[in-house]
Amino acid sequence: MTHILHRAAKVVPPVAVSGAGVEIVDADGRRYLDASGGAAVSCLGHGHPDVVAALHRQLDALAYAHTGFFTSEPAEKLADRLVADAPEGVSHVYLVSGGSEAVEAALKLARQYFVEIGQPQRRRVVARRQSYHGNTLGALAAGGNAWRRRPFEPLLIETHHVDPCFAYRFQREGESDADYAARAAGALEAKLVELGPETVAAFVAETVVGATAGAVPPVADYFRRVRRLCDRYGVLLILDEVMCGMGRTGTLHACTQEGVAPDLMTVAKGLGGGYQPIGAVFLARKIFDAVADGSGAFQHGHTYMGHPMAAAAALAVQETIARDDLLANVRAMGDRLRLRLVERLGASPHVGDIRGRGLFRALELVADRATRAPFDPALKLHARIKREAMARGLMVYPMGGTIDGRRGDHVLLAPPFIVTEAHVEAIVDRLGEAVEAAL
Ligand code: PLP
Repeated sequence: MTHILHRAAKVVPPVAVSGAGVEIVDADGRRYLDASGGAAVSCLGHGHPDVVAALHRQLDALAYAHTGFFTSEPAEKLADRLVADAPEGVSHVYLVSGGSEAVEAALKLARQYFVEIGQPQRRRVVARRQSYHGNTLGALAAGGNAWRRRPFEPLLIETHHVDPCFAYRFQREGESDADYAARAAGALEAKLVELGPETVAAFVAETVVGATAGAVPPVADYFRRVRRLCDRYGVLLILDEVMCGMGRTGTLHACTQEGVAPDLMTVAKGLGGGYQPIGAVFLARKIFDAVADGSGAFQHGHTYMGHPMAAAAALAVQETIARDDLLANVRAMGDRLRLRLVERLGASPHVGDIRGRGLFRALELVADRATRAPFDPALKLHARIKREAMARGLMVYPMGGTIDGRRGDHVLLAPPFIVTEAHVEAIVDRLGEAVEAAL
């Protein structure tokens, strides 16, 4: 008996009671190797002593002070750190409690920016199909996932969607990466022209697509083209790095690998590593200046924004990642994970693609490798894989359901940055068994 409305209304999941390193233990004493960091959250694993100690210190000093009255030392230090290591042009951050809140705030900052600078006709948002930006109404409107949106469609703000940059599903046979990048970015330009670019406030995209399509990196030059288009048409570029950011792909920000800097960028999950709920929006100086020199305040706010406990946790997580040079481990173990996945599962007739960057990897499963036809969604293969993996003490993050026949079931892996080669072996062994048992 439970009084919680769980994710599946009639299914109560196992009770998690403790965690250490890369493992979570449930109330029956079962141990689970956390190969997905939950949903790409637990970048330092569980029970990291330095983060736990920082949280104790902050709790002893001050748990909460409302940002309408005070700022706090951990929030200021965290912001200093984030801006010091931010993409070019970022001057400030806005601290919130999670990814959807960050996306929501970024959309509103984009809108307010144009109101402040005298272009109030810019109200539309363009985003991409097969993307996920969160479940609050603004973020849901930006997301390009039809089944998530469908029941709430009448409540959503006006957004327009273009195809993603997703080589396995959308690149044509014989088409070079350069030609595909031009075509995929061209779809954005066509949409801007169709809408009237002067009515568009922002283009929103995940730098590396996470949950909806499964660790999909862009082809080279796509985002450079997108950046140029946004500049040409005066549209703000919002990069959503809630899942792929804060080191997950091997660099602190995924956009660094694309050679672009956003006007606004959202991060969350890996920022606090799950030790506290926290997210942030990065603002390019022109956005901050327009608000600060215009009306003087961003017309937004939440009770828990800039929460001292959350900021203390994020600060400790980020300091630990830097001190222990964990991004080098993300790169090394990410390469190892890819190699082992290819060796173990690459020849399977049902593994269509193995992709990703750093410790952000996915397998896409297909009914037919030659045609890339997805499995029938009614089979719920992703759910079977999750069950088989959990039965083997492995947490992975599968997603299923075809989108216009243009995506198969996939399994996302996003293990903590502290994984060793032995952990990688165990992840691949158990995943291989789980996939074979589910097929
Ligand atoms: N944006 C992206 C890219 C995400 O992957 C997610 C969550 O999975 C969100 C936004 C929403 O974040 P949250 O679940 O913290 O609200």
